[in-house]
Amino acid sequence: MKYYSTKDRERLHPFSLKDAAFAGLAPDGGLFIPEYIPQVDMAKVEALAEKSYADMAVYLAQTVFDDIPAEDMDRLVRDAYNFPIVLNSFAEGLYNLELFHGPTYAFKDFGARFMGRMLGYLGDGQPIIILAATSGDTGSAVAHGFYGVDNVKVVILYPDGKVSPLQEAQMTTLGGNVSPLKVAGNFDDCQRLVKTMFNDRELREQVRITSANSINLLRWLPQSFYYFYAYCQWKKQTGASEPVVVVPSGNYGNLAAGMFAKRMGLPIKGFVAASNANDVVPEYLLTGEYRPRASVRTVANAMDVGAPSNFERMLWMCGDSYSNMTSEIKGFSCSDGQILDAIREIYEKYGYVSDPHSAVGYLATRHYGSNGFWLSTAHAAKFTEIIQRAVGITPDLPSGLALAMGKERCFTKVSADASRLADYLKG
Ligand SMILES: *Cc1c(COP(=O)(O)O)cnc(C)c1O
Repeated sequence: MKYYSTKDRERLHPFSLKDAAFAGLAPDGGLFIPEYIPQVDMAKVEALAEKSYADMAVYLAQTVFDDIPAEDMDRLVRDAYNFPIVLNSFAEGLYNLELFHGPTYAFKDFGARFMGRMLGYLGDGQPIIILAATSGDTGSAVAHGFYGVDNVKVVILYPDGKVSPLQEAQMTTLGGNVSPLKVAGNFDDCQRLVKTMFNDRELREQVRITSANSINLLRWLPQSFYYFYAYCQWKKQTGASEPVVVVPSGNYGNLAAGMFAKRMGLPIKGFVAASNANDVVPEYLLTGEYRPRASVRTVANAMDVGAPSNFERMLWMCGDSYSNMTSEIKGFSCSDGQILDAIREIYEKYGYVSDPHSAVGYLATRHYGSNGFWLSTAHAAKFTEIIQRAVGITPDLPSGLALAMGKERCFTKVSADASRLADYLKG
């Protein structure tokens, strides 16, 4: 399998998996896509999903990454996916897929853990530094995703005083190959520092560094696997087929992965792009005009994206056709007030505490009717203040988060100084 940039229409510049994975973004600024979409045997998927998520994901990963020896893929996938996925049923045919039972209690674990293991494997034993700036959640998913991977060192930059105590605990209590740097500055300073490091030729001649950006092919593609599992569970429980899947979206990696699953042969009817007030994609679906812009802050802040990177992959999968896209995806957007009301409604009607991102999925499901399920992308306990505001209770911390909160935090305080950071990375 070769990989191309979405911008390379003539397909003049093929990349190997390893080169595409280490580059992250293509040199022409496009996103990597595979040269063709592999087809799966659904009978086999359904039989394997009966055994376990890992068994099914091994088959899918072997099909997608066909140049990696099957037994290596088997080992890497089983190591990555050692936590449950739950299709939860409410009353009235309402279903949600809980994707937050991994180590950082958000669905980003599915991409980050797979990517961590794959980069370690593809790196051929040469040491590499994963460098990431974070405003909170990405840092913990990346730190956990790469934790304990041989020959990989993770350096996370986060702004002093700007991340929640829970987020800081998740990044700074691992130890081992994870080095958190608490930067005297804001998130933009952290991002600027990371950019400066990637542009520092002298540094890059001495140490191998790469990013763990969410647009990376190795974070994106494995997110298609849980759509297959959800479908099998949903079909088993309802006897129905062809669900509509509601996806709380920000940078649209998750939804684009669902579209990829559909094209691999998964019988999904369509998708709902469920967004908060950052409604660039729902607006496009309504008007045909794509107007990326600055994001606005909302209570579902992991979805605060004004210029979603994966829109390019969505267009590619629709053959650049607006009518193809609108026949497959419906848009939905909502205000903060509606999100808070939804959290309250879910709690009062069903006794279920939903995080704000997943509540957007619930609202979109209510709006379009419930002939499928929505994806629940994070555990409510990660957003205690918002839950407090909406329903007046404090959700119980799951064991992993409580454990992290009780541990000693280890980090290095640094100034927002590029030359010092370069020296630090050189060791
Ligand atoms: C990242 C994130 C999203 C948005 O996912 P995209 O793939 O960027 O669309 C939604 N919910 C939560 C909790 C997230 O962390």
